[in-house]
Amino acid sequence: MSQYSEYTNDQIKAFDKSSVWHHLTPGAAAENGLPMFVKGKGLDLWDIDGNQYLDASAGGVWVTNTGYGRKEIVDAMSEQLLELNFFASAMANKPAAVFANRLLEKMPGMQRVFYSSSGSEANEKAFKMVRQISHKKYGGKKNKILYRERDYHGTTLAALSATGQSQRRDQFGPFVPGFVEFPHCFEYRSQFEDTTDYGLKAAQLMEEVILREGPETVGAVIIEPITAGGGIITPPDGYLKAVEQICKKHHILLILDEVVCGLGRTGKWFGYQHYDIQPDIVTMAKGVASGYAAISCTVTTEAVYKMLQEDASDDKLGYFRDISTYGGCLAGPAAAIANMKIIEDENLIENCAALGDVFLAGLQKLKAKYPIIGDVRGKGLLLGVELVRDHHTKEPEDESVAIKIFIACKQAGLLIGRTNRSFEHNNILNMSPALCVSEAQIEKILSILDQAFASVTASK
Ligand code: PMP
Repeated sequence: MSQYSEYTNDQIKAFDKSSVWHHLTPGAAAENGLPMFVKGKGLDLWDIDGNQYLDASAGGVWVTNTGYGRKEIVDAMSEQLLELNFFASAMANKPAAVFANRLLEKMPGMQRVFYSSSGSEANEKAFKMVRQISHKKYGGKKNKILYRERDYHGTTLAALSATGQSQRRDQFGPFVPGFVEFPHCFEYRSQFEDTTDYGLKAAQLMEEVILREGPETVGAVIIEPITAGGGIITPPDGYLKAVEQICKKHHILLILDEVVCGLGRTGKWFGYQHYDIQPDIVTMAKGVASGYAAISCTVTTEAVYKMLQEDASDDKLGYFRDISTYGGCLAGPAAAIANMKIIEDENLIENCAALGDVFLAGLQKLKAKYPIIGDVRGKGLLLGVELVRDHHTKEPEDESVAIKIFIACKQAGLLIGRTNRSFEHNNILNMSPALCVSEAQIEKILSILDQAFASVTASK
């Protein structure tokens, strides 16, 4: 018997309306009743009223990379939970040790895994490492953390202080001191009229901020290798390599936020691995356990780890004195091991790279057909469609049009994502099906998108 069976569906819907405060949703929208999903299998989802959807958003926010209903993952978690459900990560445990080992095999050059429970928290850990290194090595002076316009790093106050999306953050100040923004790298909306060598020029904009602030005050730079929520922005040639070199030159740690890109979403294990760079700290969350458990990781080089260990015997506070109650315990890494095994056994990274190309080519065809599509871009199955009023001026299309496309897709049984009040113009649609998507499903997604664009542009 299910623990919900004493209630009717209508009662449960009423509880939701009266009692749940939904994320990112104004009250008025929630009052109209939001879809309540009750079942998933692969990429298919069913709501409480029996409507079926094809999910091209991986759970709305790039999470369910291995798809819904994976018994192998649930079995691994349940076995672990019955054996032992919890002991704090100050002690050792089997799944945390095994997953760290497996993960580091995919990340040459990286050596230590610090576990926590969400993307925001993984970034907070990275910031605290930078701040403590500043105290230990630089008399507290090299403490600033530079972040990029349009990137998102999370919801907690330091992560939000490092977020370059005005509409997401501006009502929550004052912010944590020591976070400084640098200009975006978004070729479609380049700051320069001449976009030759745009990657190098954009990296130069970052160095200008470092020089303005004083390199001796800057401890780290944080970047999303491919910006996700800020508009699916892939870096142009040379950008990340130049960022890496500038950081090295000024002894600044490079933190890569792989909360979305990590674990295969872009067609490699990690987004940064497309660009021949070596970060100092990498954070990850969503795809680590594909939504079966709340787990995140802050992965560092041995050099970063050592800086936070050395002198620990003389200086009692010299080690990284940090904890996250649920970090690394125990269902999380157990799920992550099983999730990684599925990615490997089913060649999901290769599938993602190959079908990502098919999907992008299909989106390019839609762009040729509908003038409202200004740009399509992305890597692997992290794809975006930017809507404009005019191809030439690139004036962003109104948010209401993106919402209409989103609704038309939903009515036809397709779930896509969209930038949700992140900045002034929310004119970008996100396409990110699970990595186990099939070619037939990509064709179906493209065909529904085609119909949605046809009907919305005809009624404009
Ligand atoms: N970084 C990035 C790039 C993200 O997209 C997100 C979440 N969308 C986060 C960090 C924060 O993760 P969480 O919501 O798990 O705290």
